[in-house]
Amino acid sequence: MCGIVGYIGRQKAAPLILEGLKRLEYRGYDSAGVAVLENGRFSVAKRIGRVANLEKDGATQRLAGTAGMGHTRWATHGGVTDANAHPHLSSDGTIALIHNGVIENYAQIKAFLIDKGYTFKSETDTEVLCNLIAYHHAKEPAGHNGDSRFVESVRKTLRHAEGTYGIVVMALDAPGELVTARKGSPLIIGLGDGESLVASDVAAIVSRTQNVVYLKDGEIAHLTAKNLAITTLGAGAVEPVIDKVTWSIADAELGTFSHFMEKEIFEQPAALENAMRGRFSEDGSTANFGGLNITAGEFRGIERFMFCACGTALHAAMVTEHMIERFARMPVECDYASEFRYRNSPLFRNTLFFVMSQSGETIDTLAALREAKRKGYKVLAVNNVVGSTIAREADGGIYQHVGPEVGVASTKAFTSQLLIGAMLALYIGRMRDLSFGEGVRFVEALKSAPGLARIALEQAAHIREIAKRFAHYTDMLFLGRLSLFPIALEGALKLKEISYIHAEGYPAAEMKHGPIALISEKCPSVFLVPSGEMLNKIISSMQEIKARKGPIIAIVTASVELPAGLADETIVVPEAHEAVLPIIMSIPVQLLSYYIAVERGCDVDKPRNLAKSVTVE
Ligand code: GLU
Repeated sequence: MCGIVGYIGRQKAAPLILEGLKRLEYRGYDSAGVAVLENGRFSVAKRIGRVANLEKDGATQRLAGTAGMGHTRWATHGGVTDANAHPHLSSDGTIALIHNGVIENYAQIKAFLIDKGYTFKSETDTEVLCNLIAYHHAKEPAGHNGDSRFVESVRKTLRHAEGTYGIVVMALDAPGELVTARKGSPLIIGLGDGESLVASDVAAIVSRTQNVVYLKDGEIAHLTAKNLAITTLGAGAVEPVIDKVTWSIADAELGTFSHFMEKEIFEQPAALENAMRGRFSEDGSTANFGGLNITAGEFRGIERFMFCACGTALHAAMVTEHMIERFARMPVECDYASEFRYRNSPLFRNTLFFVMSQSGETIDTLAALREAKRKGYKVLAVNNVVGSTIAREADGGIYQHVGPEVGVASTKAFTSQLLIGAMLALYIGRMRDLSFGEGVRFVEALKSAPGLARIALEQAAHIREIAKRFAHYTDMLFLGRLSLFPIALEGALKLKEISYIHAEGYPAAEMKHGPIALISEKCPSVFLVPSGEMLNKIISSMQEIKARKGPIIAIVTASVELPAGLADETIVVPEAHEAVLPIIMSIPVQLLSYYIAVERGCDVDKPRNLAKSVTVE
C-alpha cells in the first residue's frame, strides 16, 4: 500500500523523489522518508505525517546525492513514529532499504540477527531485511551469473523472507546501483535518459519517462543509471520487456479542482466515453471486448459466473450480478475476495470467474484469482491499471481505460466498472435471449450514459447546499432496491470513508427488519427512488421513516412525483435505462458524501487510516 520511489541518474535525487512521493501519497501517508547516498555515507530524513512536512525539513533540502529512494508508509508493524518510518539502515550502516508489505517471519529473522550482533532501532518487520542483507553482504563471496555481490546478498535474504514485499535497496559500497525486488507488491521500473527510476506506481515515474518495465513476483532488478538487469530468486536471467505508458503527467494533476475526488467525480462523463470507446459491434447490437481470450463457443458453455472483489469494486460486481441475471438470465454469485480465498466453497463446473479491482494490485482479490486458477477455473479481470499483477495473471480481461484514479475514495473507476458490467450483461445476453432489437436499444442506452451523467452533475451546487444542512449528523442510512441496493451500500461506504459519519446501506424494504430501530430525527435516510414498478413500495418505506421523524433525502429520477412533504430534500437525476440507472444514481451519492466531508473539514483525498489499493492482507 505504501509509496515507493527510487532514482539513480545525473540529477539531485531528493527533489525528484519528493515529487514522486507526493504523487503516490494516496497509497499511504502515516510517515514519509528519503535516503540518498552522498560523500560515502547515507543521509536519511524521515518524519511522521505528510510528504509536505518532510519537504519543509531543512535536512531534506540539503540532500545532494544523485542516487536515492523515498517511501510513504502505511504502518502494519509498529506505531506511526519517526523511528518506524522508512528508509531503514542496517545497524552497521552499510545497507539502506524501503519496503512495502509484511515480512511474516520477521521475529525468527530478528532473533537470528540479534544473535549475530545486529541491533534494531524500530518496531517494524522491515528492519530485519536491511540487517539480513547487510549480514549476507558482509559474508558472501561474489555471486554467480555475473551478478554483483550486492544482488546476491539481496537474493539470499529474500529466499528466507516469508510474506510480501516490494523493496528498494542501496549499499554503501555500491554507490551507482539500486536493487529492487518484489513479491506481492507492485514495482515499476522507469528507463529514462541516462537515469533509472523505480516506483510502486507509474504516477511517480511518468514525468521522467514513459518507458517502463513491470517487475514480476520473484524477480530482482539491478539498476544503474544506464542499465537494467533482471534475475529471479532462483538466479535465472530474465529479458526485460519494455512497455510504453499511454497517459501523461497532466492526467494525474489536480488542475482547477480542490480535491482529486472532486476532479474524478466530474471526469465521469469522459471516463464513461473512454471505457466504452470501440467496444460495440459494427451492427450496434452488442458489446465487443478485445482481451477476453475466450471464444463465443466457450462462453456459451459457461453455466454460471462468480465475481470476487473488495470494497467499492465488490459493489460494482453486485450491480453486475443484477445486470447479468436480469438481461442474460444466467446465475451469478458475488463474494468478498478476502472471504472467498479462505472459505473453500464448493464450486460448480462450467463456472467463469471474474475479479474486479481498479488497481489490479488488491492483494485479497489477487489471492482469490490465484485460488480460482489453482482449482482449474478460467479467471477474467476488470481492472484499470494496465500491466498490473491481476491483469497479468488473469486469463484475459477488460481494461477500464479511465486514466489514473488518485482519490482514495473510488468514483470514476466505480462507475466505469458499472458500465463494463452492463456491457458484459449485454454481451452475454446477446448470446442467449436478447434479440437484435433489444441489443440495439441496450447499446443506445449505454451510449447515452455520459450525457446523462453530465446532467446529473448539474445538481452539484444544489447537493452542496443539502450537504451543509446534513453535515452535522453522526449516523445515516442509504436505502435502495434491486440494482440500486449496491449503490446504497456504496453511498454508505463513501460517507464512512471520507466524512467518518457512521452510515449503513440496506435494501429499502429490509430496513424495517432491524435498522428502523435507529430511526429518529437524529438519523437521516438517503433514498434512491427511480420511477417504475418498485416506486410505490419505496414510497411506503419512506412513509415508515417519516412516521418515525427520520429526515429524508430523496434522489429521484425526473418523472417521479413524491407525496408532498415526504422528502425533506429532493435531488433529481434524469430518467435512464435500467442498465444505466445505477451509474446515474451513483453521481449524487458521490457528490453528497464529497460535500459533506468538505463541510466537516475532512481531508477528502487522504482519509484517516485508509490507503488506495490495499496490497497487504
Ligand atoms: N510493514 C512495513 C511497516 O509497517 C511496511 C508498511 C508499508 O507497506 O508501508 O513499516
